[in-house]
Amino acid sequence: MKTTSILRSYGPALLVVLLAGALFTFAMPENPTRPEPTDVDLNECASACGLPSHVDLSGEDYPVQRTEAEWKERLTDLQYHVAREQGTERPFSNRYHDNKKTGLYRCIGCDTPLFSSTDKFDSGTGWPSFIQPIDKRILGETRDSSYGMVRVEVHCNVCGSHQGHVFPDGPKPTGLRYCINSASLSFEPAESPEAIKALVEAWYLGK
Ligand SMILES: [Zn+2]
Repeated sequence: MKTTSILRSYGPALLVVLLAGALFTFAMPENPTRPEPTDVDLNECASACGLPSHVDLSGEDYPVQRTEAEWKERLTDLQYHVAREQGTERPFSNRYHDNKKTGLYRCIGCDTPLFSSTDKFDSGTGWPSFIQPIDKRILGETRDSSYGMVRVEVHCNVCGSHQGHVFPDGPKPTGLRYCINSASLSFEPAESPEAIKALVEAWYLGK
């Protein structure tokens, strides 16, 4: 078979394989670091607590509702685009991708605690990356098939703000990589993992 006819026969398939490879490389962190082990189990603390009285997740609507005018008042243009219009911020030039400080990451739309620095790792992707949320009840998941890829979108279940996506290529112990937009988060520094736990517990107790 001549080279040209090989290309004609297999060219399109080859292109798909190359494109898929490029996409996979883009998504896959090369040498992800693992979060530092800590004795403080935030997930246990969160799931042991009942949700605060103002957070009823049994209804069809998100507990926190705002008008468009209120959202625009609360958020910057970038935060609004990412959190309310399912946008994605640029990698590396965002606020928290390289933030190594100890503390709590809250939802930009409603201040709900979503992620802890103790679960953050350097994925090399240019976006803040976590191995797990603080409370799986609070981080909703939706299948997202935009851009020709099937991905799992994650959002705050309290106010509906888009956070990012979760991929199955994260480090141990969960093997998950929550790839989150800085624009969807606000960071509250804390002195220690125990201090993060105190902030989380305060939210659950409605303080
Ligand atoms: Zn929220």
